[in-house]
Amino acid sequence: MGRLNSLSDKKNTLSWANSYQGTHVKIPNNFKLSTISNFYDIELKKYFALSALSRSTSSPKELVDRAYNLIFRIRTKIEKSITESIKEILHKDELAMELLFQGSFFGCSKKQGVSVRLPLTSCVPSKLCGAACYAHDVLDAAPASIVRGAINGLIAEIYEKEDKNTKKYIMTQLTSHTKIAINTSINEVSQLQTAWNRRPYIRFSHVGEISEWPKFCNALAKQVKDISNESVDAIIYTRHPKAKYIDTDLSIVNFTLDKGSENRIGWKPDKSRLVYSAFEGEISPDVEINFLEHHRWIHLEPIGSGNICPTTLPETKTEDRSCDKVECNLCFIKPTLN
Ligand code: SF4
Repeated sequence: MGRLNSLSDKKNTLSWANSYQGTHVKIPNNFKLSTISNFYDIELKKYFALSALSRSTSSPKELVDRAYNLIFRIRTKIEKSITESIKEILHKDELAMELLFQGSFFGCSKKQGVSVRLPLTSCVPSKLCGAACYAHDVLDAAPASIVRGAINGLIAEIYEKEDKNTKKYIMTQLTSHTKIAINTSINEVSQLQTAWNRRPYIRFSHVGEISEWPKFCNALAKQVKDISNESVDAIIYTRHPKAKYIDTDLSIVNFTLDKGSENRIGWKPDKSRLVYSAFEGEISPDVEINFLEHHRWIHLEPIGSGNICPTTLPETKTEDRSCDKVECNLCFIKPTLN
C-alpha cells in the first residue's frame, strides 16, 4: 500500500489532494471497523501515498514540499468525512452507538505502551507541528489507525456534548476496555527485564489531542484511577488551548511548546511540566525536556543547549528508542516545576 511507483503516480496523488474536499460516503448501518476502511479505501490509500511522498528523500523536492503542505488538511478532511458518515447512522438509530465500542478503544505498541489514539481534527496545530507530526509516519498513517482515531474522537465528542445518561452509558461501555488497558500497562511493567522500574501508565493520547474534550479526558482519567486503585497513571502531552481544563490531580500533563508556538505558554495548566518539540533540531534551554525531531529516515542534530529526551538523541540505537530501554520516566512522574 502507498508505494509510489512513478513520477506520474506522485503527481496524480498531489492533484487528487489539491482538489480533495472530503467525501460523503454512506456506510452500512451495522458497520464494522473494517467496513469503514473498505468504504474509504480510495481516500485512505491516497492519503497514505501523500504521507509517504511528504517524507520522501528521493522524490523531487518541489513535490515533497507540496505534499508536506497538504498533509494535515487531507488527514483531517478524511477523519471528518468518516465521522460524518457514522453520525448519519447514529442520528437515525441511537442504539447504533454500541458499534463505536467494538474492537479496542486503547492501543498498545512497544514504543508508546498502552495509549489512546485520537483524530488530528482534535489538534490545534502550530505552524510547525501539523505536517511534521509522526501521525503522518508509516503505521500511524495507515487506514486502520485513522479509522480507530476517528471513532475514538467521536466517542469523546459525544461524551463532551451529551447529557448525564449518555455520559454514564459511555463510561460503562468503556469499563471493560479500561480494565484491559490497566492490566496491560501493569503487565508491561512486570515484564521489564532489568532492575529498572516505574509506575504503570496509559497515554492519553499518542496521536491527536484529548484536551479538545476535557470533560471526557477527566472522566477517563478518573476511571483509570478508580479501577486501578490509583496504581496506573494517565499521561497527557498537549499544546491545546483547552489544556487548562484538564484536572492535573487526575492526569500528569506535559505541556508542549515549539518554536512556532512559544506564545502558548499562557495555556500551560498549573501543576504541568513544560516540554518542547525541537523541530529542525532547535532545542530550548527553558524547558524540562526537549524532543529532538526525528523520523525513520532522518535524525536532526541538536542546535543549542537543553535537556534532551534520550530516546530522541541521535546516538541512541534505533532498537533502543523506548522509554523503558533508556530507563527514563521523566515525562511520567508528577511535575515538580510550575
Ligand atoms: S524524556 Fe524520558 S520519559 Fe519522556 S519520552 Fe523521553 S525517554 Fe520517555
